[in-house]
Amino acid sequence: MTTHRVSRFFTKLGCAAVCALLMTFAAPARGQPTEAFRAMNRPAKPFKIVSNIYYVGASDIASYLIVTPKGAILLEGGFVETAPQIVNNVRELGFAVENVKILLTSHAHIDHVGGLAELKRLSGATLVATAPEAEMLKRGGKGDFQYGDNLLFPAVDVDRVVGDGDTVELGGVVLTAHLTPGHTKGSTTWTMSVVDGGVTRQVVFMASLSTPGYDVVNNPAYPNLGKDILRSVETLRTLPCDVYLAPHGYAFALDAKRAKLGTEPNPFIDPNGYRAALDDAEKDIRRKLVAAEKKAAEKK
Ligand SMILES: [Zn+2]
Repeated sequence: MTTHRVSRFFTKLGCAAVCALLMTFAAPARGQPTEAFRAMNRPAKPFKIVSNIYYVGASDIASYLIVTPKGAILLEGGFVETAPQIVNNVRELGFAVENVKILLTSHAHIDHVGGLAELKRLSGATLVATAPEAEMLKRGGKGDFQYGDNLLFPAVDVDRVVGDGDTVELGGVVLTAHLTPGHTKGSTTWTMSVVDGGVTRQVVFMASLSTPGYDVVNNPAYPNLGKDILRSVETLRTLPCDVYLAPHGYAFALDAKRAKLGTEPNPFIDPNGYRAALDDAEKDIRRKLVAAEKKAAEKK
């Protein structure tokens, strides 16, 4: 199947189907392997989301700059091809990539960590991740439980490994790591608070909860996958949230919210959207678990 047809599929099916398509069309690569990926990585204008948090990613592949008096934190590195866009976006906002002191990610998939090696080289920042993601980052994506060796990226060493509840601090900003596994084994949700117009707001950088094409039951590579996703949804429900953000723009209605910027209240303040996103994720995994268990029972 040609990349053109892949692209048409992508347009029809939306981002949620992209990972499933990749399973079919991916070839060992270190950059964007398909047209579908390129469609998510179009250059986008950077902007302020709320307080000291800025969007510096591509059209759908998100990246966040958190500015502090002691330098900046960058969350998500995009594809290899996103890194120069992130560098330009940071510059366009009046900051410099050399002032990034800490690099973070939600999970070690090609579309969120492909650019980290280059961003680390340019900034000299400390790369922080959970143990399972640190392992995948070191291996450049090799041996991924879902994608095998098909979605490789430049390997990069993690400088500090964090666990559930650990914090990362810079210039008065504190980010807390919450383990929310399922999409990957070390998927991480990061939280922080900001003061916006004199009001404290809770920000949740929600990990991906999708399982496109995954075997959610009896998966020898990840036996607890289904249970982990359900537990991660429960964890996320306990987090106070005013602003929710995610590794992909579609997961938090980036385009619609950006279009409303400048109106009051800030369109990114969306606690109801957060709860709806969690409800959708739970419905999705429960539906898949029921279907998979039914199929397994039929086979017996
Ligand atoms: Zn992913």
